[in-house]
Amino acid sequence: MSGQSYDDNNIFAKILRGEIPAYRVYEDDHTVAFMDVMPQAPGHLLVVPKAPSRNMLDADPAVLSKIIQVVQKLALAAKQAFEADGVTIMQFNEAAAGQTVYHLHFHVVPRSESTPLRPHSGQMEDGDILKANAEKVRTALAG
Ligand code: 5GP
Repeated sequence: MSGQSYDDNNIFAKILRGEIPAYRVYEDDHTVAFMDVMPQAPGHLLVVPKAPSRNMLDADPAVLSKIIQVVQKLALAAKQAFEADGVTIMQFNEAAAGQTVYHLHFHVVPRSESTPLRPHSGQMEDGDILKANAEKVRTALAG
């Protein structure tokens, strides 16, 4: 356990409750995925369990075993949607490790050989671009 408690006012809890908008690409009984608003590369997604935990350190192992399968599904869809050469998966636990939002999430970042990773939590992306990129992922998931 991390020793710190879950705060259900975090931004991803609000997205899960539909209190603030997000460009969603996937949902099942246990999981939601949506576009990161400050993408480190085009198509950067976040995969988030519905069950509350701060991060991997306090997560239920049963939640982890389900979500990693969705991470793989989204990684394959994002790779196809953005014709990527590879996919970076990232996951941070507590501030010292780079975590800024305290609801467990996995970053799925399609990568191309030619495009370096942009800074973490850097610049806000234009909404129309996020919307178009979400549509690309949904199309890949459907195909
Ligand atoms: P962490 O540092 O906690 O692993 O990553 C949090 C991620 O959430 C960052 O990549 C950041 O760009 C993203 N983010 C922060 N606020 C919002 C938001 O309101 N909506 C979405 N979709 N992403 C967010």
